[in-house]
Amino acid sequence: MKPVLLITGASAGIGAACARIAATRGYDLALNYRSDTAGAEAVAGDCRAAGAEVLLCPGDVSDPDAIAAVYAKVDATYGRLDALINNAGVVDMTAKVVDLTHARLRRMFDINVIGAILVAREAVVRMQKQGQGGVIVNVSSAAARLGSGNQYVDYAASKAAIDCFTKGLSDEVAADNIRVMAVRPGLIETELHAKGGEPGRADRLAHMVPMKRKGSAEEVAQAILWLCSEEASYVTGSTLDVTGGR
Ligand code: NAP
Repeated sequence: MKPVLLITGASAGIGAACARIAATRGYDLALNYRSDTAGAEAVAGDCRAAGAEVLLCPGDVSDPDAIAAVYAKVDATYGRLDALINNAGVVDMTAKVVDLTHARLRRMFDINVIGAILVAREAVVRMQKQGQGGVIVNVSSAAARLGSGNQYVDYAASKAAIDCFTKGLSDEVAADNIRVMAVRPGLIETELHAKGGEPGRADRLAHMVPMKRKGSAEEVAQAILWLCSEEASYVTGSTLDVTGGR
């Protein structure tokens, strides 16, 4: 039986790259996204062509009922879950802290922190019940270290919360052989920057990267899939930077 992998935010960017690679590595997939049905269907088509079974599970991870619906589909279709790539996340427009509104902070933390924790909680419930271990990779950001002053401190703080959550959860479930890690991407070329109002951001800031270039979604996905693999069987609680040295 193939291992079942749930990826949140799989309709674009890093999540989509993870799905395409995972399909070639023998996983069956449950792909979550919020609104980009065309993007999700394109990813699903590529994954099926690579031999994976694919279940599309739309749902906003900031909505607990939507998370329950995603897992209900996974349970009904596969009846198990072996790995989670907890990737869905958002940025917002560049703003200083003095200009952050309550509504903006609620959206940022509802999606990036509370949603991610609830998605991971449901994965752990299933993995513990199965009794065969499991893997969770949370997608953090180098912003968690850098603070993102004058850009989006709220985003950076949400990702710092994910780093802390990763270590704490990993300690709770390590004895069940459930490994929990985080990956911190740096400047990666995806649509995320345009969604934050800065389509050229990765190119504009590439000179600040020691490797003097932006990264690709595939480069991040390769690191995530390695953490998911048996090659990383003694890795847990770790946070891996994929940043070109930044
Ligand atoms: P992206 O290209 O904008 O893709 C984001 C994905 O997340 C899309 O599939 C989107 O689905 C989904 N999503 C957004 N909000 C959601 C929600 N509330 N519920 C469910 N799905 C939701 O972004 P990306 O660059 O691949 O980012 C993926 C992760 O990497 C994020 O956690 C981000 O913070 C992190 N990251 C990115 C960078 C970078 O430079 N790109 C750097 C560090 C960390 P829809 O389009 O359907 O809404």
